[in-house]
Amino acid sequence: MKDKMAKIISLAKRRGFIFPSSEIYGGFGSSYDFGPLGVEMKRNIKQAWWIEMIKNHENVFGLDAAILMNPKVWQASGHLTAGFADTLVECKACHKRFKKDEITGKCCPECGGEITEPRKFNLMMKTFTGPLEDEASITYLRAETCQGIYMNFENVQKSMRLKIPFGVAQIGKAFRNEITPKNFIFRTREFEQMELQWFCHPREVDKWFDFWKKERINWYGVLGMQQKNLRAIEVPAKERAHYAQKQVDIEYHFPWGWGEIEGVHNRGDWDLSNHAKHSGKDLRYFDEETQEKYYPHVVETSVGVERSLLAFLIDSYQEVKGGRTKTTKATKEVEVLLKLDKKLAPIKVVVLPLVRNKPYLVKKAKEVYKLLKPHFVSLYDEVSSIGRRYRRADESGVPYALTVDFESLEKEDLTLRDRDTMEQERIAMKDLVKVLKDKLEG
Ligand code: ATP
Repeated sequence: MKDKMAKIISLAKRRGFIFPSSEIYGGFGSSYDFGPLGVEMKRNIKQAWWIEMIKNHENVFGLDAAILMNPKVWQASGHLTAGFADTLVECKACHKRFKKDEITGKCCPECGGEITEPRKFNLMMKTFTGPLEDEASITYLRAETCQGIYMNFENVQKSMRLKIPFGVAQIGKAFRNEITPKNFIFRTREFEQMELQWFCHPREVDKWFDFWKKERINWYGVLGMQQKNLRAIEVPAKERAHYAQKQVDIEYHFPWGWGEIEGVHNRGDWDLSNHAKHSGKDLRYFDEETQEKYYPHVVETSVGVERSLLAFLIDSYQEVKGGRTKTTKATKEVEVLLKLDKKLAPIKVVVLPLVRNKPYLVKKAKEVYKLLKPHFVSLYDEVSSIGRRYRRADESGVPYALTVDFESLEKEDLTLRDRDTMEQERIAMKDLVKVLKDKLEG
């Protein structure tokens, strides 16, 4: 199974999805850069989530809050105290830190050195604001995006004249000084979250929790994730996040085992009531109809962009033995197919002249590429045999390949090849944009 991860990592680099950060300096911890295909795929995931939240649900509005906030936010939210800390031991010789439960004996697993007593280590990333690096200028990179939503709960509610229940959705970077980042982009120190905070009446929180849990599990299925690789697990009290009264983890079956891709939490009034206490500001909601004043309870859905991207990549990865394309060489090899949902596929269409040594074919193919470019993320590819180019497109998850051949010039049409079925049909040039729009968006 490790083998599968090695293949995914290699494909991700080869095809321009994900590169190790600062690679010429030997990389940097768990940092990764998203290449031309990776950045498109990330945008597609975020777009799919945004549309799902803002357009497909009523009473959900967007927000983009700052990463840097008053450090008092993190005091009130419980992130600076034990609630957001790991218990670690440190090797006195090599100073490497390990989670307590990773150590079986009394020695460092790396160098055999003596280890310290366990102590709490906070996961918040510290930084300084302004020119002075003193206590007063310490602040933190946010560890979850939702605190920005709580800070703006009243601003959003009043400016949009909202009545409970309503939701605020946000996508943005979060940072955690993870002790053991691992499994490629599964656990990193810098990542993006897509979070919804749904504010509701305390009496209705269980009903909404079930509603959002179902909605969120469905979302993965709609984007093509295989049901057998998805499950929802209720987290027992002692393992829950410090703010959660109830927690369901949506998990994906990764090559190394089941792992969380999204958390659905009932945060109760933990955040609003703590912020009210610490700031002295009354953050209760006033219901004019019932004349009731209360802290809304919150259902949170929180998913990592990179973690879900990794799950979508793994889920769509297929190897076809014996070859799909009909070139003699290729049939002896295993061909890789990335069967990504069309909405998530980074490149929607690739334009190929049948051969590149016929200037009139190349000219026509470039015209087609120019025609499509404003409508779809497209590629033009003329290097190597047509079979190899189909394979490159399949590996990159491109749903449609368009080939301009000798007939194209007389008939003003071209061949459209479907990535999944490999069926080919001729499409008139004049209908091309419409046909592709219907296929990709219909
Ligand atoms: P884990 O137990 O795996 O560390 P968590 O329970 O701390 O995750 P949450 O705080 O619920 O995670 O965050 C919600 C989502 O944010 C996770 O489901 C995951 O998709 C993403 N996420 C959290 N931590 C990381 C990380 N270090 N790297 C990448 N994604 C992360």
